[in-house]
Amino acid sequence: MPRLARQEIPHMNEISTINSPITALQLRDNLHYLHPFTDYAELHAEGSRIQDHAEGVYIWDTDGRRIIDGLAGLGCVTLGYGRKELAEVAARQMQKLSYSQSFFKTSNEPAIQLAEKLVELTPKGLNHVFFTNSGSEANETCLKLVHRYWNLAGKPDKRVIIARAQAYHGSTIATTSLSGNPVFYTSGGGMPISGIERIEAPYWYLNGAGETPEEFGLTAARWLEDKILELGAENVAAFFAEPFQGAGGAILPPDTYWPEIQRICRKYDVLLVIDEVVSGFGRTGKWFGCETFGIEAPDLMAIAKGITSSYFPMSATMVSDRIASLLIEKGGEFYHGFTNSGHPVGAAVALENIRIMEREQVVENAAELGKHFGEHVASLADHPLVGNVRSCGLFAGIQLVADKDKRVLFDEALRVGDHCSTEALHRGLALRAIGDTMTLMPPLIITRGQIDEVFAMTRDALDATARAFK
Ligand code: PLP
Repeated sequence: MPRLARQEIPHMNEISTINSPITALQLRDNLHYLHPFTDYAELHAEGSRIQDHAEGVYIWDTDGRRIIDGLAGLGCVTLGYGRKELAEVAARQMQKLSYSQSFFKTSNEPAIQLAEKLVELTPKGLNHVFFTNSGSEANETCLKLVHRYWNLAGKPDKRVIIARAQAYHGSTIATTSLSGNPVFYTSGGGMPISGIERIEAPYWYLNGAGETPEEFGLTAARWLEDKILELGAENVAAFFAEPFQGAGGAILPPDTYWPEIQRICRKYDVLLVIDEVVSGFGRTGKWFGCETFGIEAPDLMAIAKGITSSYFPMSATMVSDRIASLLIEKGGEFYHGFTNSGHPVGAAVALENIRIMEREQVVENAAELGKHFGEHVASLADHPLVGNVRSCGLFAGIQLVADKDKRVLFDEALRVGDHCSTEALHRGLALRAIGDTMTLMPPLIITRGQIDEVFAMTRDALDATARAFK
């Protein structure tokens, strides 16, 4: 792709003061397109990486470089890129019924079938589905349903939601507020909104000093009990959590955590809302993180991403009988929904995506490959820059530290993680730095050989980072 010198680019002075070569397409990108989760000054200086086409686990950018996608997009491209069956199903459905609204007692067959399939796949008791279009909308729907439920149940004082530090539940004002990274609230708008309380994450490596992971799992779960007692159980509506925390830095809870959390929620009649947006559809080696972590009966569950392998924007809130029966019997009209809820094309794509996953035993393969992947992750523990490694199925966190023995983190300002992800990208691997934790979550159709390729590049990137910072 030809690159223009800075002086050749119209309006360049208006958009950047940094003298870097940038392509014409990057310039057009800078001029009009505001990207999500992006530092615009940096983007305007460097230009974006423009992806051109993709196949399987590989993406080619407009410079012709091939990148192995260690991130499955944003943890969503479960079946990898370029699956013709999904494109064909979408085209057929677009020709048959391109859109169907689902408000006002209207429905369509793909959405009905998908609801049936999701009920079959998800944990028992989640027998009802509310369709949405993104993880944020699915979580926002959970939040509305929690409040609706307690109002209908005659306990309107049960209003407080407990969420966790380092949680990520989305990008709307309410789901940003549920998320546990204070930097997200800096755009203002009254975030975090009132009525949300927070407990620490079950992050054994940083918070569990002096305890075994098993002991710490119980300690961390009891922070929930302490918070409920502090607030009064009569005021607490729900506990919101991801089975493992992905975007918060790859935090995997000890085995003792989830059973104890469920005991506490039952004891104090606090609804359990599980965010499976990233952990769902095979990431952990089971269909849902709930199965992997022994979460038996959530009251509500948000699913997205892998539901269509992101070939179409679609998500859903799974609703338990306990909540749905009250809505149906006593609720009257539920004033909530989106123009594209239950979109027939999205539903047809989701059904085909699930059919392929079942036919090709993608989840079973992910569990099997997860062992090989996990061995690679474990082998990085001896790297001088690596303080802790964590993996589950085809998900991993590799935490970089300044001092391995004393568990001292790097100064954030050094942006060591960003340096490492740039080194990886130079070698042809997309991985993500969350602070200084490097995360990997490739498409579930990755092969053993491609996993070896990912980890060869990861080790190289770590070596280069170690040379730069040691
Ligand atoms: N919940 C979790 C656990 C996520 O990882 C994400 C996105 O990464 C979301 C919610 C938000 O989903 P979306 O970006 O589709 O709104």
